Amino acid sequence: MNTSTTTAPPAQHPRIPTRSVSGQRARRDGRLRLAAGSALWLSLLLVTYWWVADGGIQDLGGWESGLTSLGRLLGLVASDLLLVQVLLMARLPFLERPFGQDRLARQHRIVGFTSFDLMVAHIVLITWGYAAGQITQFPATIWSLTTDYPGMLLAAAGTVCLVMVVVSSIKTARRRVRYESWHLIHLYAYLGVGLALPHQLWSGQEFMSSTGATIFWWSAWAATAVAVIVWRVAVPLWRSARHGLRVSAVVAEAPGVTSVHLEGRHLDRLRVEAGQFFSWRFLDREGWTRAHPYSLSAAPDGSSLRVTIKALGDDSDRMPALAVGTRVMVEGPYGRLAPRARSRAKVALIGAGVGVTPLRALADGLDYAPGDAVMLQRYTEHPLFVRELQALTERRGLQLLWLPGRRRSPDSWLGQGVGSASDVDALKFWIPDLADRDVYVCGPAVWAESVRRTALAAGLPPEQFHLEIFQW
Ligand SMILES: Cc1cc2nc3c(=O)[nH]c(=O)nc-3n(C[C@H](O)[C@H](O)[C@H](O)COP(=O)(O)OP(=O)(O)OC[C@H]3O[C@@H](n4cnc5c(N)ncnc54)[C@H](O)[C@@H]3O)c2cc1C
Repeated sequence: MNTSTTTAPPAQHPRIPTRSVSGQRARRDGRLRLAAGSALWLSLLLVTYWWVADGGIQDLGGWESGLTSLGRLLGLVASDLLLVQVLLMARLPFLERPFGQDRLARQHRIVGFTSFDLMVAHIVLITWGYAAGQITQFPATIWSLTTDYPGMLLAAAGTVCLVMVVVSSIKTARRRVRYESWHLIHLYAYLGVGLALPHQLWSGQEFMSSTGATIFWWSAWAATAVAVIVWRVAVPLWRSARHGLRVSAVVAEAPGVTSVHLEGRHLDRLRVEAGQFFSWRFLDREGWTRAHPYSLSAAPDGSSLRVTIKALGDDSDRMPALAVGTRVMVEGPYGRLAPRARSRAKVALIGAGVGVTPLRALADGLDYAPGDAVMLQRYTEHPLFVRELQALTERRGLQLLWLPGRRRSPDSWLGQGVGSASDVDALKFWIPDLADRDVYVCGPAVWAESVRRTALAAGLPPEQFHLEIFQW
């Protein structure tokens, strides 16, 4: 194998005392994930129970009453999931920490589409039932339901908002729309959800069927509204005002890659870990409306922060011209590519391109003894943070492995010049004790998937693989 490497740490370095890695936080996160999943299923069971208690099953006996009854059940499940998908994106710390935002975003997408499909089925079945089971009466019935029943006009407007959001989120449409435009349309989802509430209150049989049901629904709606206001609006505003972040320096790292250094007040009280990311708004003339996620590229030291940004579009392109002193708003910190996911004393950090940024922060922010951390950096032409990483080798015994060149094949995550060994053999050769490490990976989605497959094939237990990709 013909890859440039720096391996064993210099023997004369004193052993750095490491805190024992108990994996306690990783286990607690596992329990929190289980609790969150159970709460979701419990809420679905509860709303189904109230439907049964209200005669939902008996109503299935007749054709028309059966259609309406099934429509009611689907409406209840759709409402429950509608609130769940809002909560998944409400940046609740007790969901963010155990799941991580990328996983929450994927689940939000699945729950959101499911809830929308059920809502459409609810509308069709209820209308069909009210049309006495005759499909020809469907248009007249949907018109009279919308205009005659309390809250239904608002619900119709809410449905239009949700249709807009869902259509713009279908993958082919999503790719054609600018991120900012898609995000703006997505905010209509809150309006859609809000407008659906009155019809449930005024026309929804199960909403009022028992005191328990009424308390459940009111609490669920109120908790969701409070969660969004607190965690999506108030906390980011408060945190940004408290820390008063400003750009303190802008430094070119490599062609098209710029580091932005930031300073602020009380940064020692900002509960952020190496490897995490914030959503950043650089408040110059254009930046107010643009929030973009960037990972910290240096371990937080209590007095400054740093992000390293590759120019890929209209916002990242303007980073080199950012003025020192520009004020900055942040949402976060988020992400699980951090010490909290750790369960082993040894780690491997594997990154490609600008994906190496959070790993650079972890290489400094994680506790490890000399030789217990290895970093593999894949790059085509320009590696990042060479001097800083070499300094970490000197100071902390970080092992470095450089993997240059174009990808040797679309299936391989390795560069040309590695030789003919398979990806799995190469990984086992470089990191023989892989199964005894936590593996932190960051890079493009397809590349990262290839690393995951290789690592699992080389014997890594899946729960020791920790991933961040720079796209949702
Ligand atoms: C968790 C996370 C951490 C990231 N960390 C870094 C980093 O440390 N360094 C770095 O160079 N890049 C990072 N990125 C990628 C970076 O956010 C995008 O390159 C940047 O937002 C592009 O914005 P743009 O306006 O320049 O380009 P655009 O042309 O607007 O977008 C280019 C691509 O970025 C996506 N994107 C744009 N805005 C957002 C957003 N607000 N949220 C999610 N995706 C968006 C778009 O969908 C598109 O695929 C990270 C992304 C994520 C999701």
